[in-house]
Amino acid sequence: MQYVTILGSTGTIGQQTLDVISQHPGRYGVFALTAHSNVEAMLQQCAQYQPRYAVMQDAASAQLLQQRVQAEQLKIEVLAGVDGLTEVAAHAEVSIVMAAIVGAAGLLPALAAAKAGKKILLANKETLVMAGQLFMDAVKQGQATLLPIDSEHNAIFQVMPRQAYSDLRDVGVNQIILTASGGPFRRYTQAQLQDVTPALALKHPNWVMGAKITIDSSTLMNKGLEVIEARWLFDARPEQIEVVVHPQSVIHSMVSYVDGSILAQLGNPDMRTPIAYGLAYPERIASGVKPLSLIEVAKLEFEAPDTQRFPCLSLAYDALAAGGTAPAILNAANEVAVAAFLREQIQYLDIPRLLEMTLQQLPAEQVQSIEQLLAIDAEARAFVTQAIANMTTAPVRKAVSV
Ligand code: NAD
Ligand code: MG
Repeated sequence: MQYVTILGSTGTIGQQTLDVISQHPGRYGVFALTAHSNVEAMLQQCAQYQPRYAVMQDAASAQLLQQRVQAEQLKIEVLAGVDGLTEVAAHAEVSIVMAAIVGAAGLLPALAAAKAGKKILLANKETLVMAGQLFMDAVKQGQATLLPIDSEHNAIFQVMPRQAYSDLRDVGVNQIILTASGGPFRRYTQAQLQDVTPALALKHPNWVMGAKITIDSSTLMNKGLEVIEARWLFDARPEQIEVVVHPQSVIHSMVSYVDGSILAQLGNPDMRTPIAYGLAYPERIASGVKPLSLIEVAKLEFEAPDTQRFPCLSLAYDALAAGGTAPAILNAANEVAVAAFLREQIQYLDIPRLLEMTLQQLPAEQVQSIEQLLAIDAEARAFVTQAIANMTTAPVRKAVSV
């Protein structure tokens, strides 16, 4: 039996992980579940999966959960905050850690799992965007096994050579080709983008995901974050990573080799495939995902991304080129801007505008430590929060032109 900690168990990825685990009861046991503040959802998961630990980010929620767990006579230890998260991520009895918290909040627990040498199923791409080098170093030093869960990176991992390399060319790789669905606004004009509402942006054509990543997918920021994620996971130079829009989301990504071959991984767009792959690696187990019917899919289309209408993708390449702390600054700014858009405090096109402004105003530094990155993350959040306050308190709200 392998014991699993699921960081972010009440989220979309967390729930799908529990779904796959439930299909293999003799193989995986649930050691710990964690959530931000949804006590009802956590209580329901606790009753169903009977973990040893449940962690709530927020202390008041932890207290409430504790009372409910006692009332239900469940034998579960309730912990709170980052300390609780790092404890269950690094616990000696845990073999597998699913890192599926959304945003920068996922960094410290994922890092704790890396240092403790766990098998890490990394869904939380923000960890690599913020602290790519430090996280990869921790994985190496802790002798952890890192398995990408993001569908694109999982696909690339599946078709990448297994030998070690110092440059992708040494193993015959020409390029990594990340596919992007293009999101719900692929065909929108600049004028139509102006009027996009949260409700509209929350409807992704192919994938069911949490709110933040769904907005990121619509702006192509998600693909930008994934370019940075690929840079670290596969030790690729930015020019070795190409983005291709593929609206069907059937090819989850590809690797192009020097001999002219392109290897791809295909499947129905369902995250239980990469989750099952990560859980069982290097074996394969059933995931509950329907086999892909190529006849039903019938055709696969590809086109170039339009960085005029979707500048977030270029901003990610810019941050990568600037290096150092620039991707962490971009990530923090994006989290604040997306949250403000979801609260209807800013307009859709203000998102790239705020990101560009933040990258211009806050200088990139060399990365030295996690503490430094957390301080820069806080600084970038404060900067964007202030910029939003300035925009929204202005007497006449000016239309944004990008
Ligand atoms: P979600 O919003 O559905 O779930 C997020 C989870 O994290 C929830 O359990 C929530 O309680 C917890 N959480 C949120 N803020 C927290 C905080 N401050 N501290 C502790 N816990 C917190 O998100 P999701 O769609 O499941 O995505 C999770 C991660 O996986 C993201 O980084 C996302 O980019 C990545 N990812 C998701 C998908 C997908 O299909 N959903 C695909 C690829 C990658
Ligand atoms: Mg993805």
